[in-house]
Amino acid sequence: MSKTALITGISGQDGAYLAKLLLSKGYRVIGAMRRSASLALARLEYLGIARDVEPFHCELLELTNITRMIERTKPDEIYNLAAQSFVSASFDQPIFTVEVTGLGAVRLLEAIRLINPGARFYQASTSEMFGNASRSPQDENTPFRPRSPYGIAKLMAHNFAVNYREAYRMFCTSGILFNHESPLRGREFVTRRITVGLAEVKHGHRGHLTLGNLDARRDWGFADDYVEGMWRMLQHAEASDFVLATGAATSVRRFVEIAARQFDFDIAWSGSGTDTIGTDTKSGRVVVRIDPEHYRPAEVHDLVGSPAKAAAQLGWRHKTSVDELAVMMALEDDRRVRDGITAY
Ligand code: NDP
Ligand code: GDP
Repeated sequence: MSKTALITGISGQDGAYLAKLLLSKGYRVIGAMRRSASLALARLEYLGIARDVEPFHCELLELTNITRMIERTKPDEIYNLAAQSFVSASFDQPIFTVEVTGLGAVRLLEAIRLINPGARFYQASTSEMFGNASRSPQDENTPFRPRSPYGIAKLMAHNFAVNYREAYRMFCTSGILFNHESPLRGREFVTRRITVGLAEVKHGHRGHLTLGNLDARRDWGFADDYVEGMWRMLQHAEASDFVLATGAATSVRRFVEIAARQFDFDIAWSGSGTDTIGTDTKSGRVVVRIDPEHYRPAEVHDLVGSPAKAAAQLGWRHKTSVDELAVMMALEDDRRVRDGITAY
């Protein structure tokens, strides 16, 4: 008999890629989404699976609808991907972020404990929990030093997942994932701001793109590679914590340079701090400027992960390099902006 998977956050980037993977493996996929989901089915439509996922309305702030959902759907595997996931927004909405990203996971865990404790549970943890990391690369044993309300809320959820594993012997696995992107990434994240922004400059919709800290470094992978790791974690014999990462960090500045080449811009940088500008050497046109609005009250400057445990125990490794990722995203946003597609 086919297994049933429940995915919270189905309307988000990872929800879409994970649903596609699980459907290809013969799962029945229940997609939990808010009634007011921002993109509802758009990402599922993009991947051609909108009709194959069974929607279930669920708000993580509300315990009763979570318990009803677990009772009615009786999932074998539950992937908790729902979150207020944008670090910047978490500084403006710390309480809401804790309610959704932190306590939302606790509500879900309590419902599973009471109704369906045999289900396997995946918690979408994040490298943001390492924050101002004391060592590099970060792995499952690196101390957590979160720097944002988002990181703190995620660490709360992570600790609860570990606690339910230890206290109740539930199969609760935490995937500590480094940044992963795709053409379906939310537009507020820096990779997508870069590829959409450059496409809009190229097609004449705006004069230049504004960014914040160009020197931040992230370990960027492709979301489609990472959802495969999530699934492998829940097939593993034991629940545990696993880092998924590429093992290489790239600066925002370099991501701009790679993506820009796809738009026929050759970026040269000049100035410093908020006066930094990125100029296209071919046309002499200023393509990138800094807007301090995009700076954060506390920044995580440098994250890079070691996926050694996932490689050894799950046989997982990333397939897509950051260069391939940037090119893929740039080409897709070039096409979308050219054709006036704004759905994602
Ligand atoms: P997205 O922001 O694209 O998706 C988040 C999802 O959560 C959306 O479907 C959103 O629905 C849903 N959601 C938000 N608030 C609620 C709520 N109150 N009740 C129910 N659902 C809600 O994130 P990603 O797909 O990129 O990431 C998936 C998960 O992995 C997130 O938890 C994220 O924090 C975590 N993560 C992501 C990383 C990355 O680089 N992408 C790295 C490490 C961890 P709606 O459409 O209604 O807003
Ligand atoms: P995060 O790692 O989850 O915070 O993912 P983001 O994509 O939001 O940000 C990654 C890094 O890019 C952070 O260090 C940001 O400070 C930096 N950054 C620089 N400019 C921007 C920008 O314009 N938007 C965003 N979102 N981040 C930016």
